[in-house]
Amino acid sequence: MRVLIVGGGIGGLTAALALHARGIESVVCEQASEIRELGVGINTLPHAIKELSLLGLLDDLDRVGIRTSELIYKTARGQPILRQPRGIDAGYEYPQFSIHRGKLQTVLLDAVRARLGDGAVLTGHKLTGFDQDKAGVTARFETPEGEIELRADVMVGADGIHSTIRRHYRGEEGPPSWNGILMWRGATWWPPFLTGRSMIIAGGMKSKLVLYPIGNDPKRPGETLMNWVVCAKIGDGSMPIPGRDDWSRVGTVDEVMTHVDDILSLDEVDLEALISATPENYVYPMCDREPLRRWSWRRVTLLGDAAHPMYPVGSNGASQAILDAVILADCLAELSPVEALKTYEKARRSATTKIVRANRKGGPERVIDLVEERAPDGFDNLNDIANGAELTALVGAYQSMAGFARNQVNN
Ligand SMILES: Cc1cc2nc3c(=O)[nH]c(=O)nc-3n(C[C@H](O)[C@H](O)[C@H](O)COP(=O)(O)OP(=O)(O)OC[C@H]3O[C@@H](n4cnc5c(N)ncnc54)[C@H](O)[C@@H]3O)c2cc1C
Repeated sequence: MRVLIVGGGIGGLTAALALHARGIESVVCEQASEIRELGVGINTLPHAIKELSLLGLLDDLDRVGIRTSELIYKTARGQPILRQPRGIDAGYEYPQFSIHRGKLQTVLLDAVRARLGDGAVLTGHKLTGFDQDKAGVTARFETPEGEIELRADVMVGADGIHSTIRRHYRGEEGPPSWNGILMWRGATWWPPFLTGRSMIIAGGMKSKLVLYPIGNDPKRPGETLMNWVVCAKIGDGSMPIPGRDDWSRVGTVDEVMTHVDDILSLDEVDLEALISATPENYVYPMCDREPLRRWSWRRVTLLGDAAHPMYPVGSNGASQAILDAVILADCLAELSPVEALKTYEKARRSATTKIVRANRKGGPERVIDLVEERAPDGFDNLNDIANGAELTALVGAYQSMAGFARNQVNN
């Protein structure tokens, strides 16, 4: 069997590795002329890290990422709500990683090239159209050398939130649905805070700061690559997304500071100094798409953001793409192409639909909204507002629903 994977992001590259581990040949076609280390920080959760570890990538991840040790939820005013250990520190057999998205992609890309050969990733190949028949799929790509056709038994659309393959079947959906929140993201070298592996999320859906380190460099002692995200609700989502919904769109320090000055404050880090010192920040709308009722059509299927783009709350975007990839490979190893894609969809579609919907309500970070709703002017004693068991249960319910409760991972 030969599988054509469209899109060389986290999902597509993991699919190539997982298929290879099961003895299935694949080729990844990526539209970009080269795969560069784009994006800033992402978190990958223990269930996804378990799969990457089984693919033999744990040492590489340790080389470039940081094992997250704890997560502290706070209000936007900086009042602590809940502090929980994470990954190995929480008794998981696998870590949670805070990592630069581009570095994670490079770890995967290097492994694909080393294991499948240099020809396994074709850059400068943009899918423009395809047909399927009883025996396979014929896909057309625009390349620097002109249009070419590739033939495979199965085609996987790992081509992100603007998926061409999704549009082929679903029709024109228009821009992603936006909730009125803009996110400014950046990373720069900065002194570590708390354990040096801590993560802070301060503020609910209206105004939020996310802060965590994503890498160290022996040549920069006393500093860590500090990732920050400032989210601000600037509309109700009924208006069109301002600007392009492009992960690489550059923002300005002034724009970010308007939202930081007014609301967010934090003891651990001087936010104004951190943001001002960051050479470049990126602005992206918090958006997703309505979950699909179907994502496999005989020999063609979707994976990752193409199938289920979700708000980046709860750290699930990359993790769920990794899980999709592994389960798809399991199905293709056991079943005929058409049956495999049906079974894969059955295993993954309703599971990820639940996460898309939960993330619209704030995901686990809902604990912050809850406290901020009950005590908009802050509190003297958290116990007067919410008890620890209630907050822990809310976070725990999200973890179980998204498949990364400790007992689900350590089995
Ligand atoms: C440039 C970039 C930067 C990002 N930065 C962040 C970040 O900082 N933080 C964060 O939380 N998430 C970020 N994301 C999103 C995050 O990577 C995904 O949510 C998650 O990893 C799921 O990945 P995916 O593989 O499904 O999709 P993606 O990571 O979006 O990958 C899809 C790939 O498909 C390729 N592609 C699209 N159309 C075609 C076509 N017609 N033919 C061939 N190839 C095609 C794209 O170029 C891309 O490489 C970023 C995504 C991108 C593309």
